[in-house]
Amino acid sequence: MSSSHFSSSRTDNYNNQVLCGCNLECTILTARKGDNKGKRFYRCPHFKKSGDCQFFQWVDDAHFTIVDLKYLIIASEEKNMRHLDNIVKLIKIVLVLLLMANIMIFLLILK
Ligand SMILES: [Zn+2]
Repeated sequence: MSSSHFSSSRTDNYNNQVLCGCNLECTILTARKGDNKGKRFYRCPHFKKSGDCQFFQWVDDAHFTIVDLKYLIIASEEKNMRHLDNIVKLIKIVLVLLLMANIMIFLLILK
């Protein structure tokens, strides 16, 4: 492998173009079930057709697109939503207590 070929293959990686055994640009698919549900992987474009070279490779975390990040953020937000609700409830209680304290101070000043 020459150094020029190496640098061009690096460019291919940057463009998310992974080549399968047929030397074709891979299709990116998403795992539908199992522990890796939602995780994306590269497959031969002849996937489920004749000529499938059985190429398989997980999409590297470094290759995550904005869409992937969006789904990850949504998933973690849903996980934190209940926790966030509790914090909001707590803040409301603190605000009510502060308001009551202010009213009491105000009434003491008026006396
Ligand atoms: Zn292939």
